[in-house]
Amino acid sequence: MTAPKNGTFLQNVERMVAKTVQYLDLPPGWAEEIQAPDTTIKVQFPVEMDDGSWKTFTGWRCTHSEHRLPAKGGIRYASIVNEDEVEALAALMTYKCALVNVPYGGSKGGLRLNPREHSEGELERITRRFAQALINKGFIGPSDNVPAPDMGTGEREMAWIVDTYQMLRPEDINYLGCVTGKPVDMGGVRGRTEATGRGVMYVIREFFRNRDDVARTGLTGDLAGKKIVVQGLGNVGYHAAKFLAEDDARIIVVIEWDGAIINEDGIDIEALREWINVHGGVKGFPGGTYHEEGTRFLTYPCDILIPAALEGQITLANAADIQAKLVVEAANGPITYEADRVLLERGIMVIPDFFANAGGVTVSYFEWIKNLSHIRFGRMQRRLDEFRAKAIVDAIEAATGKEIESKLKHRIMQGSDELSMVRSGLDDTMREAYQEIKQTFHENAGIEDFRTAALVVSMKKIANTHKRIGL
Ligand code: GLU
Repeated sequence: MTAPKNGTFLQNVERMVAKTVQYLDLPPGWAEEIQAPDTTIKVQFPVEMDDGSWKTFTGWRCTHSEHRLPAKGGIRYASIVNEDEVEALAALMTYKCALVNVPYGGSKGGLRLNPREHSEGELERITRRFAQALINKGFIGPSDNVPAPDMGTGEREMAWIVDTYQMLRPEDINYLGCVTGKPVDMGGVRGRTEATGRGVMYVIREFFRNRDDVARTGLTGDLAGKKIVVQGLGNVGYHAAKFLAEDDARIIVVIEWDGAIINEDGIDIEALREWINVHGGVKGFPGGTYHEEGTRFLTYPCDILIPAALEGQITLANAADIQAKLVVEAANGPITYEADRVLLERGIMVIPDFFANAGGVTVSYFEWIKNLSHIRFGRMQRRLDEFRAKAIVDAIEAATGKEIESKLKHRIMQGSDELSMVRSGLDDTMREAYQEIKQTFHENAGIEDFRTAALVVSMKKIANTHKRIGL
């Protein structure tokens, strides 16, 4: 493979690590070990197509780190997938999990294919063959490696994977935990599909609670009315945009593969998503102006830019023209190393990918716990909570002689169901990680950005585990 002008994705991740090592007191050689991918396997397998022909597919799964097990990370289906990309994404998973205290090593998988070019039947046969190859080589299982959705995959593919695993390992009582992001009726957890996008929203909310950070970017006020540009209206971009709009932010540009939609009054995200589902792209959407050259709009004037599509979107070619005051990396690796330096020099704050999009793996962790404990969250205590809350409400009413207003009474007495528990756990995780990053940022005079601070937090935790168990 010829190296791209901005370096490969993995090289970009490695340069970020190299820059961070000076803030860590690691024994010689440890940084190299922590950053090196442990194992990468490549599998090739034939699958029969609908027309009777056979096609050979190529896929990879990388386990970047096994300092904690299982190793965790999604499986991506895209025509540009390659080994370097899978290793870079696996490395980001290691740092992501450590940062948000999800006790996993990092992993990632990729299959080189364009899902749009295959029927559902073909995709099922391909997914089952890929899963079989990975299971047989020990790269899928509830205790060693647990995939999840990523670009081009979703709960449908995860259902095929869990079913394949169950057929090959019928004795494994924890088989449901071999993959996360499953449909709820197949052992999934409520709130997983929306989790990455919701996590992005929680991060931005937390940013606006930290007035000193807001002031450093030159932004004022809170989220309401802020102008946002979103690149990519896939699962992550769609949910992030939807929840931010519900918080009264204005999504003024959506960039998709076939162009951009611009509407300064705010785009109706639900309507646009529906349009894309029916027409395949944004072209022709009546709720805004259409422009064919989508990526040009990354430099459109706005308050917050959210790249939620592919890696390598903000490069030296456009970094000097970015006009946002805050960039939140909902995608993995959307800013190249060099472009990141340019944004830093220009005073544009970046919330890094392995924090901003950690909501997905956080809720995957909740799903995996649910699978291993074989019980839905809230099943044992929901009615008990309600019963206790009712006793308190009754006591207050009896003591005061006044009736509590019915809406408030309802809120107090509502027991926690699975969705509200998942959302609360996600919110808490993102807020806690934000504060950890911020503290490290302020404690180290040399650290100039949140990316470096976040990586210091992650690598310290990984190094601590190695100090206890060895390299
Ligand atoms: N693919 C998602 C990510 O990049 C989720 C991974 C997971 O849940 O394991 O973070």
